Amino acid sequence: MIKNTVLKLALAAVYFSVAGGLGMSMGSGLAHAAAPMVKTSAPAYYRTMLGAFEVTALSDGTIKLPVDKILMEPEQTTKQSLAHAYLQAPLETSVNAYLVNTGSKLILIDTGTATLFGPSLGKLLANLKASGYEASQIDDIYLTHLHPDHVGGLMNNGAMAFSNARIHVSQAEADYWLSQKNMEQASADAKSFFQGAMDALNPYKAANKLDTFNQDGELMPGLSAHSTKGHTGGHTSYLPESQGEKMLVVGDLIHVAAVQLDKPEVTVTFDSHAKEAAAMRQKIFTQAAKEGLVIAASHMQFPGMGRLKKSGSGYQWLPVNFTQMP
Ligand SMILES: [Zn+2]
Ligand SMILES: [Zn+2]
Repeated sequence: MIKNTVLKLALAAVYFSVAGGLGMSMGSGLAHAAAPMVKTSAPAYYRTMLGAFEVTALSDGTIKLPVDKILMEPEQTTKQSLAHAYLQAPLETSVNAYLVNTGSKLILIDTGTATLFGPSLGKLLANLKASGYEASQIDDIYLTHLHPDHVGGLMNNGAMAFSNARIHVSQAEADYWLSQKNMEQASADAKSFFQGAMDALNPYKAANKLDTFNQDGELMPGLSAHSTKGHTGGHTSYLPESQGEKMLVVGDLIHVAAVQLDKPEVTVTFDSHAKEAAAMRQKIFTQAAKEGLVIAASHMQFPGMGRLKKSGSGYQWLPVNFTQMP
């Protein structure tokens, strides 16, 4: 009996595999075609609340970075850390920006790259629109620093992308990167960084829409500036805060999570002041872990928002929980 059942099952399996092999031709007379792959990504925005503020993380896309060549440690050491995290070089790296609606102001922190780094980036405006906002609605843009992957998006095909926005950046950052003299004295490689900052900022400056600040503290109700210099001389983190909830937007305080969470002392070639950058990372990480503070980082994997937990001599990344809005 059992033998018989097994035989029947085996025959059924053969039947279905033959029928499957013949495709749909038995029924409809049409050959069965697999659906073509779509190969596009979902609009990349992530929305959550911070007290009464609405926060939207916006992806500008990703870029493959040769992190084994740009971290200041032996290539082999980087490769080992990447392998440990099931990653490899070049590492697909997120570029994120953050939109905060305070209820009375619409604020954007950093702007992505626009067309500066090829077709896998420059998605910020499309994702902003997909998230339900127009670029013209943005009142204020706060820049963590003036590297091209943070300011490139200020311009769109030669025009100001944010027609009604005022731009805010620390005085030290503006003084350094917008100086013609500094650009002339820079190495050939570094010149493009100065040029990128000037191309992005100068039209706003000419239109009298560029503001600078030179100390930490409140910039507008619910938003304060905190110097996190090191990566660049005027690098600034921004802290939106509502009803006791806080999020520190840290820009380029960290580039490669798979390495720098475990070893915050490892710096990147893009750091203007490497020693200061490493010390600042340690300082902010220590503080964030102690307070359970949500940090939002430009190059952590999208949406780049999470908390840090001390783990041995390094840190563990705890991404924010997913939240569904009605
Ligand atoms: Zn940077
Ligand atoms: Zn960056």
